[in-house]
Amino acid sequence: MVVFKNLSRHPDIGSNCYSLRLGETEIVLDAGTHPKHAGNDTLPRFSDIEEAELDAIFVSHPHLDHIGALPCLSHLHPEATVLMTEGTKQAGRALLHNSVNVMKALRVELDEPSYPLYGHARVDNQYKKWMTQPIGKPFHLGDIDRVECQLHHAGHVMGAAGITFRYEGRTVFYTGDVHFEDQTVTKAAEFPTEGIDDLIIESTRGANEREPGYTREREKQKMGEIIAETIAAGGAVLIPVFAFGKTQEVVLMLKELMDEGVVPDSPVHIGGLSSKMTAISDDHADSALRRHRGYKIMERFPDLEVMQRGRSEPCYEPGHIYALSSGMMSENTVSNRFAKHILTNPKDALIFVGYADSETPGGMIQAAGQGGAVCLEDEGREYAISCRVEALDFSGHATRDQLADYAVEVAPQRVILVHGDEPAKAWLQEEISRRLPDTQVIIPDPGQEIVLD
Ligand SMILES: [Zn+2]
Ligand SMILES: [Zn+2]
Repeated sequence: MVVFKNLSRHPDIGSNCYSLRLGETEIVLDAGTHPKHAGNDTLPRFSDIEEAELDAIFVSHPHLDHIGALPCLSHLHPEATVLMTEGTKQAGRALLHNSVNVMKALRVELDEPSYPLYGHARVDNQYKKWMTQPIGKPFHLGDIDRVECQLHHAGHVMGAAGITFRYEGRTVFYTGDVHFEDQTVTKAAEFPTEGIDDLIIESTRGANEREPGYTREREKQKMGEIIAETIAAGGAVLIPVFAFGKTQEVVLMLKELMDEGVVPDSPVHIGGLSSKMTAISDDHADSALRRHRGYKIMERFPDLEVMQRGRSEPCYEPGHIYALSSGMMSENTVSNRFAKHILTNPKDALIFVGYADSETPGGMIQAAGQGGAVCLEDEGREYAISCRVEALDFSGHATRDQLADYAVEVAPQRVILVHGDEPAKAWLQEEISRRLPDTQVIIPDPGQEIVLD
């Protein structure tokens, strides 16, 4: 018997975690933390699997909503083999260490005694035992009931993978986060379409329709034009980005735009964590799963400025471009601290390139727009938004139509929708049910168990 259980604590994106029981073999898929909650409330429902003997924990990619709670889960279940790709292993270690630092700061700021949920020593000790598997090569898990597994390139960020499980004639596929189009660095997903009985699929963009006529290339040219106009007028540009994934995508896109003559050669600033993540990404420059094969950003981008150690933000200079994390401009991050220089200057531009939750400063700035006002972190002081504000679509997630098309191509017996806000999952449920009337499309509640038979 195969049983799926939703271990996410909240119904939206964050604390992503699911378990699959295949006969006697029990595997956990991802162990993320929730960015909008604090302390133990950020963790998945680990109490639901307290008694379980876990065979393995699979981490699809190193974003914190998938790996942030791994040190807690591994501590509770030292018997479980931890599995991921080599890229996820390297980037995950660095991101977990950074997460320890963030939790230490939050302990004081939020007066949250449970923080940090784990320390640097635990991350390093566990890291040594993380096992890696290459994309595409079958392997087995479980001692009593052996389950055949295989990783598939997910196209979301470097190293991101989905995983298939085959057991007693049943095939279950978990996508993790997926993108079906080439990005600037990472190539499109290569996912299986044949013989899948149960498809566990992400739903991030289910509530958003893509603009008609969109192409990534056109969007890139638009970004180039905004930057060129801003620099010509004597302004600076801030692009809030996630340290892993979006930083490398944006920096390489800027390099392309400079080589094409769309953007004048200008200094590009990134933060310390981003430079670490970029170096890790460069380690995998020869991978067949990326574009610009062999191109190492840290070595070959002469105008790249890395923020000095110990500094909390770079120096503001007109004519410069700042690709700083975090992407949602959350409190206590470099992009949040640096924003005050940009927001109040009508010559400057602020360009969003990915998803920002509506309750984060990034989301609030987009909602208020130029002429509005926003509070950054320091005691609620309000800043007028005088700069140009633009939002471009360089999402690392598949569009809702691509997700639905993929599900229709697979035509499984069952689709389980995860990793999405409620309207997003509702749209996909309706769309997929309409196009595949014989398929059961399920939105599992936190804690819900589903027998896959
Ligand atoms: Zn992700
Ligand atoms: Zn995610």
